[in-house]
Amino acid sequence: MIHFNKPPLSGREEKYVLEAMKSLKISGDGAFSKRCQQWFEERLPCKKTLLTPSCTHALEMAALLLEIKEGDEVIMPSYTFVSTADAFALRGATIVFVDIRPDTLNIDEKLIERAITPKTKAIVPVHYAGVACEMDTIMAIAEKHHLFVVEDAAQGFASTYKGKALGTIGHLGAFSFHETKNITSGGEGGLLLINDERFMHRAEIIREKGTNRSQFFRGMVDKYSWVDIGSSYLPCELQAAYLWGQLEMSDVIQESRMKSWKCYYDTLIPLAKKGLIELPIMPKECVHNAHMFYFKVKDLDMRTQLLDAFKAVSIGAVFHYIPLHSAPAGLKFGRFFEEDNYTTKESERLVRLPMYFGLREQEIAEVCDVIVKWSKH
Ligand SMILES: *Cc1c(COP(=O)(O)O)cnc(C)c1O
Repeated sequence: MIHFNKPPLSGREEKYVLEAMKSLKISGDGAFSKRCQQWFEERLPCKKTLLTPSCTHALEMAALLLEIKEGDEVIMPSYTFVSTADAFALRGATIVFVDIRPDTLNIDEKLIERAITPKTKAIVPVHYAGVACEMDTIMAIAEKHHLFVVEDAAQGFASTYKGKALGTIGHLGAFSFHETKNITSGGEGGLLLINDERFMHRAEIIREKGTNRSQFFRGMVDKYSWVDIGSSYLPCELQAAYLWGQLEMSDVIQESRMKSWKCYYDTLIPLAKKGLIELPIMPKECVHNAHMFYFKVKDLDMRTQLLDAFKAVSIGAVFHYIPLHSAPAGLKFGRFFEEDNYTTKESERLVRLPMYFGLREQEIAEVCDVIVKWSKH
């Protein structure tokens, strides 16, 4: 049995979570939260970061900060997780799905400009598998049309585009620390990255239920009150402590994942050379983070056969995503811009292999053996 995912454990989480439990502050924005945020602000670097209970919440905060409202349009790929769209649909926006590029499976930047209408407010590029979208082009389009860019960098921890950390390029960015991502804050968690100073003040207010409590704690106001709309977007200290246990070891986690990724890639090259599978493609501007190892087969039938072969030997290989535009809520809240040339077709050909911190070379060899056997008949 080889699991598809195992949440990463660095071995330090327990110590820090206990420390947080025994401290007299276990609600949000305590010492561990501050330590984590500072780590990101220095390492990425980034003007300001705020821990959130999930990436979904970070995206919701982004939609609130951009004052997305009914009638607005938001451009994004359909090949993504539901949260990318949910956050903006919640504010009443219409989601305009733009086709993906067949190489990176990221939004096709060449189609974006034509999808813009007078109602367009924002572009939300999703960095699939931690491989960057063509951000220079996207930022130039946004600037020309006075649009905001929110990077869904849920999968982008430790990835870069032209040397810049993902999530730090758009006006706002969002990371996920869900247990399936490279590092986790105990199962659920996220981070909002604020790169545009205009959003810093209001982000703190929205995150604190619409109050100026953060300012109050810093002694900037003598009482705090309800000043705007908001919600409770703070994770508790136990989550931050868990995350700190991972951040301290994140280089080790990353090194191990990269090694596993390369091991899969090298082992599968012969099959790719024979044209039996297609390996992932990395544009030269992008440094990826081994968030996932995927490859593509010829079509849906071939994929079904392969996934059945994995299932028969209890190996957790999976597929995703069902394109959002063809899902019930996608039909209700969005529309697809022009032709779906690649989104559906590519999604039906994709296979994701087991990938987690601690995956052994022997297990990778077992997984690849199944693919070799499948390719032979
Ligand atoms: C995981 C993921 C999310 C959601 O992250 P949560 O932390 O679970 O809310 C959003 N977008 C993408 C692309 C993801 O992969």
